[in-house]
Amino acid sequence: VIDMGQAEHSVITTCAYCGVGCAFKAEMKGQEVVRMVPWKDGKANRGHSCVKGRFAWGYATHKDRITTPMIRASISEPWREVSWDEAIAYAASEIKRIQAKYGRDSVGGITSSRCTNEETWLVQKLVRAGFGTNNVDTCARVCHSPTGYGLKTTIGESAGTQTFDSVMHTDVAVIIGANPSAAHPVFASRLKRRLRQGAKLIVIDPRRTELVDSPHVKAAYHLPARPGTNVAVLNALSHVVATEGLVDEEFVAARCEALAFQQWRDFVSLPENSPEALEAVTGVPAADLRGAARLYATGGNGAFYYGLGVTEHSQGSTAVMAIANLAMATGNMGREGVGVNPMRGQNNVQGSCDMGSFPHELPGYRHISDDKVRHEFELDWGVTLQPEPGLRLPNMFDAAVDGTFKGLYCQGEDVVQSDPDTQHVAHALASMECIIMQDMFLNETAKYAHVFLPGSSFMEKDGTFTNAERRISRVRQIMEPKGGYADWEVTCLLSNALGYPMHYKHASEIMDEVARLTPTFSGVSFERIEELGGSVQWPCNAEAPEGTPIMHVGEFVRGKGRFMITKYIPSEERSTRKFPLLLTTGRILSQYNVGAQTRRTPNVAWHSEDLLEIHPHDAEDRGIEAGDWVAVQSRAGETVLRADVTERVQPGVLYTTFHFPESGANVVTTDSVDWATGCPEYKVTAVQARRVTQP
Ligand code: SF4
Repeated sequence: VIDMGQAEHSVITTCAYCGVGCAFKAEMKGQEVVRMVPWKDGKANRGHSCVKGRFAWGYATHKDRITTPMIRASISEPWREVSWDEAIAYAASEIKRIQAKYGRDSVGGITSSRCTNEETWLVQKLVRAGFGTNNVDTCARVCHSPTGYGLKTTIGESAGTQTFDSVMHTDVAVIIGANPSAAHPVFASRLKRRLRQGAKLIVIDPRRTELVDSPHVKAAYHLPARPGTNVAVLNALSHVVATEGLVDEEFVAARCEALAFQQWRDFVSLPENSPEALEAVTGVPAADLRGAARLYATGGNGAFYYGLGVTEHSQGSTAVMAIANLAMATGNMGREGVGVNPMRGQNNVQGSCDMGSFPHELPGYRHISDDKVRHEFELDWGVTLQPEPGLRLPNMFDAAVDGTFKGLYCQGEDVVQSDPDTQHVAHALASMECIIMQDMFLNETAKYAHVFLPGSSFMEKDGTFTNAERRISRVRQIMEPKGGYADWEVTCLLSNALGYPMHYKHASEIMDEVARLTPTFSGVSFERIEELGGSVQWPCNAEAPEGTPIMHVGEFVRGKGRFMITKYIPSEERSTRKFPLLLTTGRILSQYNVGAQTRRTPNVAWHSEDLLEIHPHDAEDRGIEAGDWVAVQSRAGETVLRADVTERVQPGVLYTTFHFPESGANVVTTDSVDWATGCPEYKVTAVQARRVTQP
């Protein structure tokens, strides 16, 4: 499948899959990619890559690509191919018609964490300045929004504290709710290298992930917390730190708010937070909780790495704050080898958040109600912005069902497949009068769209992605856009048609605007990125012209670190007589998210369906054998998956991936959300399972 012919030229660019952000040399013959070679000078990957970035790029030229705009008056009609002019004019007229009929706030937009920073910037700008509403959100809503809330609250910045290289100075790595071997493989390799040098590993996960028993790097502790009990586990660890004299008193006294720390110490020291009291809740032996806490607090440089297994819970934000509390209490902040590191799943989910995709925040995580900040944008953009936060993604869907939200501009996001409670999302979309979908493929969401605007792959445009270590890396165009325009150009066309002019000649001009209006990016430009070797970590400004590899050195971004009380509140999704099992979800190495790209590449040969992992005891109880079809039912819906009987999962826990639309994991996930951010609780769904003869 891979053409091994001779390349004529090469271009350095950035992988468009996970949040590691590997740099690749695209070897080209004319407009064709010959091969993708991991770039040895890439600072995030240093010449390494995984099977996604290396082999799964063929989707960009796949026959399923839609390259001609299409419109239709209703979703029951067939698509009609039209010119770009007609499609854009129709889309703009529909937005205007809907706003005239239902009001300014009856429309909104969704940015994409797959697109570049520059494209995300323009979509939120179009919604705020062109539509005149703050109804803009991003798919980070459904993954790392608790990271934004939890880290901003405790340490003052919504981003990871370290570089990936920092792990080579870590003595104790705590991996909680993350499976880097599958989701961030290049980072996992670096972590294993450090573990082979003698660093210790603690894994907190309901499942025996690959890292737990990996050859030569076996985890010192695997804490198999029941789904939904992360906060209880973290409180038990905190209890040990607080009551066994393991607090770094000097660090806390110098760097943290005294009163908040004392309140936290009093809280976690309560008997109800002891490992013994929480053993039955978490399913983790108290001795292991004590041992892991002692190891993290006393084993040298301790670093937390966490993923969606932390954030996608009803207490996702609480768990993020509990992690930050532990890191501050043990002095594991502000130097190499330590810190709190959210493993961002998508290539530019950090960037989409940085660029102001949230309904309550302007770029740089500044609240929309801040008059001074809003006024700076108003002066630059020549408009009046609304001071009230707009609707979050799930609230847009709720409002659509209620009949008050009627129009949506959705760039590069398949909400039907990726958001929870599929039936509700579909009902919401079907209730809208105009959905403008911009994507490479006719995905599940496009079934509800009225305008389809061809999207462009990362190979077809210039821009930047920001990875999980805040590294802004150049994405370089290596071929012409298949549909004629890069995604950012399409947003400009739509904005111009709406009467809000956007005239950028190159993506670099958009980054110049980002730098002009965002203090943490004020030193960033395409030129500066080139000077620094192709990437730079924000903040990059007058104080840090070379960028900032480690944050919170000497002082937290918010000044003093703020401990937060993290009371454990059980999830509403709990085992009942009707739904006795807990379903949780995750990823597999060869596939990516909803599979729109990887399913259209040779990688599909390695994994062609989502499987249901079930413990042998649960399987036997239900007469299920490996390979049987199993119906999984929750209070939201039912789906059917093929069984993989395995001890990787504990009794009472089911696990599946979510890469294939046929298995529809989100048909069963429910409407439970994080209390602070509305992030869906994908990781805990109470279900029943039964053997069926066929799907
Ligand atoms: Fe690197 Fe992630 Fe791309 Fe793999 S998917 S090559 S780890 S950026």
